[in-house]
Amino acid sequence: MELIERMKPALVGESIFDVGKIFEKLVRETSDEGSLAGTTVTAISGIELALWDAVGRALNTPICNLFGGKFRNEIRVYADCHAGDEYTPQSYAEKARAVVDKGYAAIKFDLDVPNPHTRDVSGPEYPYRWWHQPYNRTISSRERDFMEALVAATREAVGPDVMLAMDCHWKYNVNDALKLARALEGYDLLWLEDPVPPENVDALAKVSSGTSISICTGENLYRKHGYRELIEKQAADIVSPDVPKMGGLLEAKKVADQADTYYIPIAPHNVASPIGAVVAAHVCAAMSNFLVMEFHAMEVEWWDDLVEGGPVISDGFILLREDPGHGLVLNEDVARAHLKSGTTFFGER
Ligand code: MG
Repeated sequence: MELIERMKPALVGESIFDVGKIFEKLVRETSDEGSLAGTTVTAISGIELALWDAVGRALNTPICNLFGGKFRNEIRVYADCHAGDEYTPQSYAEKARAVVDKGYAAIKFDLDVPNPHTRDVSGPEYPYRWWHQPYNRTISSRERDFMEALVAATREAVGPDVMLAMDCHWKYNVNDALKLARALEGYDLLWLEDPVPPENVDALAKVSSGTSISICTGENLYRKHGYRELIEKQAADIVSPDVPKMGGLLEAKKVADQADTYYIPIAPHNVASPIGAVVAAHVCAAMSNFLVMEFHAMEVEWWDDLVEGGPVISDGFILLREDPGHGLVLNEDVARAHLKSGTTFFGER
């Protein structure tokens, strides 16, 4: 919020219709604060999203019509799943079945979870949490067998028709990631996400080119420039920009269009509120190469209550409405009730 306050002078007097220019202006004016990537870009993205909503409302048209119109009315989401505190093939299978029963035809689980065979975790980091990881980035054969058992149980639980992805959160080295990917080739995964750290595109390209599994990455890249090398080297088979974080709708559309010149599908990362998710869904509707978008808040019971007018996800899809802009109204009471401690409501001190 502080960053957005500081950008205010650059916005005063601008036309809401000049979204592209305003984005560039904010990036350039905050370049000394890190506008190549990171929080500064995400703050600018928030302004960019709000501008597209304002433009849509001014023109009385939904946001998707501002990006070339819809390829589809329904935006498929995949449910990000956590099997609780027990990481066993059985808990994965049970959770997968429960989520599919809720109407989701696409799901994702984490593979970099507490593994009884992990070699390099000790000392103060015990007991193992998911963000604790083997610093040496290795996967022993027994660890790999355990991960394969998680995947096998999940696939068997949901059958062949459910889209199933697995996430590794940038944990592993190239060769062990390759061995893992090859071990999983028989389970028809939708993708294997972030098997190696994100900053070395050549290392990722080696993994991607060595397995038949689609490798997905992109949630911690920013602006169209952040994706250029990844796409040009075809280092990933699926790209996952986080729309409200990486630069906003126009940047995401540019990334999607560049990816499409290599026939690479887009599967946006999404951990946003209903408003952020629906705004992202509008630009996804206008991407020819959209595959599926994340839904990360299945366990947040009040997520849908943040906006008025009922759930935005139904049977695993976000249905786009014809209302102007993003078409949603924030339920301020619910938002205030769930303010993160130590923060203030937007616009208040
Ligand atoms: Mg991820």
